[in-house]
Amino acid sequence: MEVELLGRRELLSRYGIRRSAGLLGRGGFVADPLRLAASYMRTAERRGARVFAPVEVQSVLEQARGVIATTSQGIQLRAKYAVFSTGYEVVKGIRATGHSIQWSRPVRRSRRAILGSAARDALSARKFSLLERRLAALFPALDPEPDYAWAGTFGSSDNGTPIIGRIPGNRRLFTVLGCGGNGVTFSMLAAQLLTSEIAGDGDRDAALFAPRRRH
Ligand SMILES: Cc1cc2nc3c(=O)[nH]c(=O)nc-3n(C[C@H](O)[C@H](O)[C@H](O)COP(=O)(O)OP(=O)(O)OC[C@H]3O[C@@H](n4cnc5c(N)ncnc54)[C@H](O)[C@@H]3O)c2cc1C
Repeated sequence: MEVELLGRRELLSRYGIRRSAGLLGRGGFVADPLRLAASYMRTAERRGARVFAPVEVQSVLEQARGVIATTSQGIQLRAKYAVFSTGYEVVKGIRATGHSIQWSRPVRRSRRAILGSAARDALSARKFSLLERRLAALFPALDPEPDYAWAGTFGSSDNGTPIIGRIPGNRRLFTVLGCGGNGVTFSMLAAQLLTSEIAGDGDRDAALFAPRRRH
């Protein structure tokens, strides 16, 4: 994304912000996550994928030539490999280690400004008023009263990286877990790592994300 560096004087004259420097980006965009996900799935279907939704997978059995996932409706889905991109937990019976829920990120939103903060706890109300004070300090002419305020909780591993790779003790089962606050970047990384792993090419960075890594 192209950005422009603004100095103190320009920042003040153009935006009324009193800071030593600022980055002005013009390439931002907004995507409707639901429509985007649906569009990805339709594209995958056109390329031969079969989508089953909504289903809850309750158990997965690994066999010599493939895996069988059984849903809560008792339907059996067969595949050569299974990748659990299920957020923070794999289905019952398969152990995953090394991740825990740690922090949340409150985000405040209004028609004129969208604010977020890298808060390290779930005290939303306190964080919202902190954001309000920061907005008022940055733009004294604005009314900082929020139109909407919301917070979401996500988990993170001890070192902030997700757990991507073959589940120890299994040949055909993989995880993409604990993407934390960077799922957009990590999901692409996971796709590349697991494609190489399943194709047998391997990846020299795979150990950094492996389920039983030491860091
Ligand atoms: C407030 C907030 C702000 C964020 N901001 C950013 C950001 O700015 N940039 C960024 O890159 N990331 C951001 N993230 C993180 C990003 O949203 C996540 O990392 C990403 O959504 C993780 O995607 P995922 O597919 O791995 O897991 P999830 O989105 O958690 O999806 C897992 C899916 O698996 C399904 N599932 C679970 N168990 C089963 C089962 N047994 N059977 C069938 N289905 C099952 C769940 O229903 C769910 O739909 C943010 C997250 C939050 C909460």
